[in-house]
Amino acid sequence: MNICKSCGGEAPLSFRFCPRCGTQLYEGLERSGADPDSFVPLLNSLYNLLAVKRGDVPHPDRGKHLNTVSESAMSRRCSIDHNEMCRDIFRSLRFRPEASQALDDLLTLSLSNALAGYAYRAVEEMICKRKILPMPSTERDSLISTVWRNSDLKESAYGELRSDDPVEHRLLFCLALNWNSGHDRYTLASQDLHEKWWKTVFGENLELSFTCFENVYRAVGLLANRQPLSHAVKQSVADDVHEELTHGYVVRLAESLYPI
Ligand SMILES: [Zn+2]
Repeated sequence: MNICKSCGGEAPLSFRFCPRCGTQLYEGLERSGADPDSFVPLLNSLYNLLAVKRGDVPHPDRGKHLNTVSESAMSRRCSIDHNEMCRDIFRSLRFRPEASQALDDLLTLSLSNALAGYAYRAVEEMICKRKILPMPSTERDSLISTVWRNSDLKESAYGELRSDDPVEHRLLFCLALNWNSGHDRYTLASQDLHEKWWKTVFGENLELSFTCFENVYRAVGLLANRQPLSHAVKQSVADDVHEELTHGYVVRLAESLYPI
Protein backbone atom coordinates (compact mmCIF):
# COMPACT_ATOMS: atom_id res chain seq x y z
CA MET A 1 0.00 0.00 0.00
CA ASN A 2 0.98 3.61 -0.46
CA ILE A 3 0.76 6.02 2.46
CA CYS A 4 -0.34 9.50 1.41
CA LYS A 5 2.18 12.08 2.62
CA SER A 6 -0.50 14.76 2.86
CA CYS A 7 -3.26 13.08 4.85
CA GLY A 8 -1.76 9.76 5.97
CA GLY A 9 -4.45 7.77 4.16
CA GLU A 10 -3.67 4.40 2.55
CA ALA A 11 -4.20 3.52 -1.10
CA PRO A 12 -3.24 0.56 -3.31
CA LEU A 13 0.07 0.98 -5.19
CA SER A 14 -1.60 1.32 -8.54
CA PHE A 15 -3.66 4.37 -7.48
CA ARG A 16 -2.56 7.57 -9.16
CA PHE A 17 -4.20 9.83 -6.57
CA CYS A 18 -5.07 9.56 -2.88
CA PRO A 19 -8.80 8.71 -2.67
CA ARG A 20 -9.11 10.84 0.47
CA CYS A 21 -7.37 14.12 -0.40
CA GLY A 22 -6.46 13.85 -4.09
CA THR A 23 -2.65 14.15 -3.66
CA GLN A 24 -0.69 12.43 -6.42
CA LEU A 25 0.84 9.19 -5.17
CA TYR A 26 3.73 7.01 -6.22
CA GLU A 27 6.07 4.50 -4.68
CA GLY A 28 9.72 5.57 -4.82
CA LEU A 29 12.56 3.24 -5.70
CA GLU A 30 14.02 3.39 -2.21
CA ARG A 31 11.60 0.82 -0.79
CA SER A 32 13.37 -2.04 0.91
CA GLY A 33 12.24 -5.64 0.74
CA ALA A 34 10.30 -5.40 -2.52
CA ASP A 35 9.59 -8.94 -3.69
CA PRO A 36 9.09 -10.21 -7.24
CA ASP A 37 5.32 -10.36 -6.77
CA SER A 38 5.18 -6.60 -6.26
CA PHE A 39 6.76 -6.00 -9.67
CA VAL A 40 3.60 -4.98 -11.53
CA PRO A 41 2.08 -2.77 -8.80
CA LEU A 42 5.45 -1.05 -8.31
CA LEU A 43 5.83 -0.54 -12.02
CA ASN A 44 2.34 0.95 -12.27
CA SER A 45 3.10 3.23 -9.35
CA LEU A 46 6.33 4.52 -10.88
CA TYR A 47 4.66 4.82 -14.27
CA ASN A 48 1.95 6.98 -12.69
CA LEU A 49 4.67 9.37 -11.58
CA LEU A 50 6.48 9.47 -14.93
CA ALA A 51 3.55 9.67 -17.35
CA VAL A 52 2.09 13.15 -17.07
CA LYS A 53 -1.30 13.64 -18.65
CA ARG A 54 -1.74 16.55 -21.00
CA GLY A 55 -2.46 19.68 -18.95
CA ASP A 56 -1.34 18.14 -15.62
CA VAL A 57 1.54 19.57 -13.59
CA PRO A 58 4.32 17.00 -13.11
CA HIS A 59 4.91 15.74 -9.56
CA PRO A 60 7.92 17.56 -8.03
CA ASP A 61 9.75 14.21 -7.61
CA ARG A 62 9.39 13.20 -11.23
CA GLY A 63 12.87 14.45 -12.15
CA LYS A 64 14.41 12.22 -9.47
CA HIS A 65 13.29 9.14 -11.35
CA LEU A 66 13.57 10.21 -14.96
CA ASN A 67 16.75 11.68 -16.38
CA THR A 68 16.08 14.55 -18.78
CA VAL A 69 18.57 13.37 -21.41
CA SER A 70 17.00 9.90 -21.30
CA GLU A 71 13.54 11.41 -21.60
CA SER A 72 14.62 13.44 -24.62
CA ALA A 73 16.24 10.37 -26.21
CA MET A 74 12.95 8.49 -25.87
CA SER A 75 10.97 11.40 -27.32
CA ARG A 76 13.41 11.74 -30.18
CA ARG A 77 13.04 8.13 -31.16
CA CYS A 78 9.26 8.16 -30.77
CA SER A 79 9.03 11.24 -33.03
CA ILE A 80 11.18 9.65 -35.73
CA ASP A 81 9.10 6.46 -35.73
CA HIS A 82 5.89 8.42 -35.50
CA ASN A 83 6.73 10.55 -38.53
CA GLU A 84 7.54 7.45 -40.54
CA MET A 85 4.29 5.81 -39.52
CA CYS A 86 2.29 8.93 -40.40
CA ARG A 87 3.88 8.96 -43.81
CA ASP A 88 3.03 5.31 -44.38
CA ILE A 89 -0.49 5.02 -43.03
CA PHE A 90 -1.97 8.46 -42.84
CA ARG A 91 -0.62 10.11 -45.96
CA SER A 92 -4.04 11.02 -47.27
CA LEU A 93 -5.34 12.17 -43.89
CA ARG A 94 -2.69 14.63 -42.85
CA PHE A 95 -4.65 17.73 -43.55
CA ARG A 96 -7.95 16.62 -42.09
CA PRO A 97 -8.46 18.47 -38.80
CA GLU A 98 -9.61 15.34 -36.94
CA ALA A 99 -6.48 13.55 -38.09
CA SER A 100 -4.19 15.95 -36.35
CA GLN A 101 -5.58 15.17 -32.87
CA ALA A 102 -5.57 11.47 -33.69
CA LEU A 103 -1.94 11.59 -34.73
CA ASP A 104 -1.05 13.37 -31.49
CA ASP A 105 -2.78 10.59 -29.58
CA LEU A 106 -0.63 8.00 -31.31
CA LEU A 107 2.57 9.88 -30.49
CA THR A 108 1.49 10.11 -26.83
CA LEU A 109 0.77 6.39 -26.91
CA SER A 110 4.24 5.49 -28.16
CA LEU A 111 5.83 7.71 -25.51
CA SER A 112 3.71 6.01 -22.84
CA ASN A 113 4.88 2.60 -23.99
CA ALA A 114 8.52 3.74 -23.89
CA LEU A 115 8.03 5.15 -20.38
CA ALA A 116 6.56 1.83 -19.26
CA GLY A 117 9.71 0.09 -20.56
CA TYR A 118 11.86 2.62 -18.73
CA ALA A 119 9.93 2.05 -15.48
CA TYR A 120 10.21 -1.71 -16.08
CA ARG A 121 14.00 -1.60 -15.96
CA ALA A 122 13.97 0.75 -12.95
CA VAL A 123 11.76 -1.63 -10.96
CA GLU A 124 13.79 -4.66 -12.11
CA GLU A 125 16.89 -2.95 -10.64
CA MET A 126 14.97 -2.22 -7.47
CA ILE A 127 13.73 -5.77 -6.94
CA CYS A 128 17.01 -7.42 -7.93
CA LYS A 129 18.83 -4.85 -5.77
CA ARG A 130 21.66 -4.24 -8.18
CA LYS A 131 22.69 -2.35 -11.27
CA ILE A 132 25.10 -3.09 -14.08
CA LEU A 133 28.55 -1.51 -13.81
CA PRO A 134 29.54 1.17 -16.33
CA MET A 135 31.11 -0.01 -19.57
CA PRO A 136 34.76 0.94 -20.09
CA SER A 137 34.93 4.00 -22.36
CA THR A 138 36.82 2.16 -25.14
CA GLU A 139 34.17 -0.56 -25.26
CA ARG A 140 31.44 2.07 -25.23
CA ASP A 141 32.95 4.04 -28.11
CA SER A 142 33.47 0.93 -30.15
CA LEU A 143 29.85 -0.10 -29.53
CA ILE A 144 28.58 3.30 -30.72
CA SER A 145 30.75 3.06 -33.83
CA THR A 146 28.95 -0.16 -34.83
CA VAL A 147 25.50 1.42 -34.95
CA TRP A 148 25.40 1.78 -38.74
CA ARG A 149 26.05 -1.90 -39.41
CA ASN A 150 22.27 -1.95 -39.45
CA SER A 151 21.94 -0.55 -42.95
CA ASP A 152 18.14 -0.16 -42.69
CA LEU A 153 18.74 2.26 -39.86
CA LYS A 154 21.32 4.20 -41.79
CA GLU A 155 18.96 4.70 -44.71
CA SER A 156 16.00 5.75 -42.56
CA ALA A 157 15.45 9.06 -40.75
CA TYR A 158 17.77 7.69 -38.05
CA GLY A 159 20.63 8.19 -40.49
CA GLU A 160 20.50 11.90 -39.69
CA LEU A 161 21.33 11.44 -35.99
CA ARG A 162 24.54 13.23 -35.02
CA SER A 163 27.05 12.12 -32.45
CA ASP A 164 27.88 15.68 -31.39
CA ASP A 165 24.38 16.27 -30.00
CA PRO A 166 24.10 14.88 -26.43
CA VAL A 167 20.57 13.52 -26.88
CA GLU A 168 21.23 12.02 -30.31
CA HIS A 169 24.55 10.60 -29.10
CA ARG A 170 22.68 8.81 -26.30
CA LEU A 171 20.08 7.55 -28.72
CA LEU A 172 22.84 6.19 -30.99
CA PHE A 173 24.34 4.36 -28.00
CA CYS A 174 20.93 2.87 -27.18
CA LEU A 175 20.33 1.79 -30.78
CA ALA A 176 23.73 0.11 -30.89
CA LEU A 177 23.05 -1.62 -27.57
CA ASN A 178 19.68 -2.83 -28.80
CA TRP A 179 21.06 -4.24 -32.08
CA ASN A 180 20.41 -8.00 -32.29
CA SER A 181 18.98 -7.81 -28.76
CA GLY A 182 22.47 -7.21 -27.36
CA HIS A 183 20.85 -5.65 -24.29
CA ASP A 184 19.51 -9.09 -23.27
CA ARG A 185 22.77 -10.02 -21.66
CA TYR A 186 22.25 -7.33 -19.03
CA THR A 187 18.96 -8.74 -17.74
CA LEU A 188 19.03 -8.87 -13.92
CA ALA A 189 15.99 -11.04 -13.17
CA SER A 190 15.98 -14.79 -13.81
CA GLN A 191 14.72 -15.79 -17.23
CA ASP A 192 11.47 -17.17 -15.79
CA LEU A 193 10.70 -14.00 -13.89
CA HIS A 194 11.63 -11.75 -16.77
CA GLU A 195 9.39 -13.70 -19.14
CA LYS A 196 6.50 -13.57 -16.69
CA TRP A 197 6.89 -9.84 -16.05
CA TRP A 198 7.37 -8.99 -19.69
CA LYS A 199 4.31 -10.97 -20.72
CA THR A 200 2.18 -9.08 -18.20
CA VAL A 201 3.50 -5.62 -19.02
CA PHE A 202 3.44 -6.24 -22.77
CA GLY A 203 -0.13 -7.59 -22.53
CA GLU A 204 -1.36 -4.53 -20.61
CA ASN A 205 0.29 -2.07 -22.97
CA LEU A 206 -0.94 -3.98 -25.99
CA GLU A 207 -4.55 -3.82 -24.83
CA LEU A 208 -4.30 -0.07 -24.26
CA SER A 209 -2.65 0.36 -27.64
CA PHE A 210 -5.35 -1.63 -29.46
CA THR A 211 -8.00 0.59 -27.88
CA CYS A 212 -6.12 3.74 -28.81
CA PHE A 213 -5.56 2.61 -32.42
CA GLU A 214 -9.21 1.61 -32.74
CA ASN A 215 -10.32 5.06 -31.58
CA VAL A 216 -7.88 6.77 -33.91
CA TYR A 217 -8.84 4.64 -36.91
CA ARG A 218 -12.51 5.31 -36.28
CA ALA A 219 -11.94 9.04 -35.77
CA VAL A 220 -10.23 9.39 -39.13
CA GLY A 221 -12.62 7.09 -40.97
CA LEU A 222 -10.26 4.17 -41.56
CA LEU A 223 -12.53 1.84 -39.58
CA ALA A 224 -16.32 1.56 -39.61
CA ASN A 225 -18.25 1.70 -36.35
CA ARG A 226 -18.28 -1.91 -35.21
CA GLN A 227 -15.49 -3.12 -37.42
CA PRO A 228 -12.54 -4.54 -35.46
CA LEU A 229 -8.90 -3.80 -36.31
CA SER A 230 -7.60 -6.12 -39.01
CA HIS A 231 -5.16 -8.87 -38.14
CA ALA A 232 -2.43 -7.08 -40.07
CA VAL A 233 -2.92 -3.82 -38.16
CA LYS A 234 -2.98 -5.68 -34.84
CA GLN A 235 0.25 -7.43 -35.71
CA SER A 236 1.92 -4.17 -36.60
CA VAL A 237 0.65 -2.55 -33.37
CA ALA A 238 2.06 -5.51 -31.40
CA ASP A 239 5.44 -5.10 -33.10
CA ASP A 240 5.45 -1.39 -32.29
CA VAL A 241 4.52 -1.93 -28.64
CA HIS A 242 7.30 -4.48 -28.29
CA GLU A 243 9.83 -2.10 -29.83
CA GLU A 244 8.70 0.88 -27.75
CA LEU A 245 8.80 -1.01 -24.47
CA THR A 246 12.22 -2.40 -25.37
CA HIS A 247 13.46 1.04 -26.31
CA GLY A 248 12.46 2.51 -22.91
CA TYR A 249 14.05 -0.48 -21.21
CA VAL A 250 17.31 0.01 -23.09
CA VAL A 251 17.37 3.77 -22.35
CA ARG A 252 17.16 3.06 -18.61
CA LEU A 253 19.77 0.29 -18.86
CA ALA A 254 22.06 2.68 -20.74
CA GLU A 255 22.11 4.98 -17.70
CA SER A 256 24.04 2.25 -15.85
CA LEU A 257 26.36 1.28 -18.70
CA TYR A 258 27.06 4.86 -19.73
CA PRO A 259 26.19 7.15 -16.81
CA ILE A 260 24.91 10.58 -17.82
ZN1 LIG B 1 -4.25 11.92 1.03
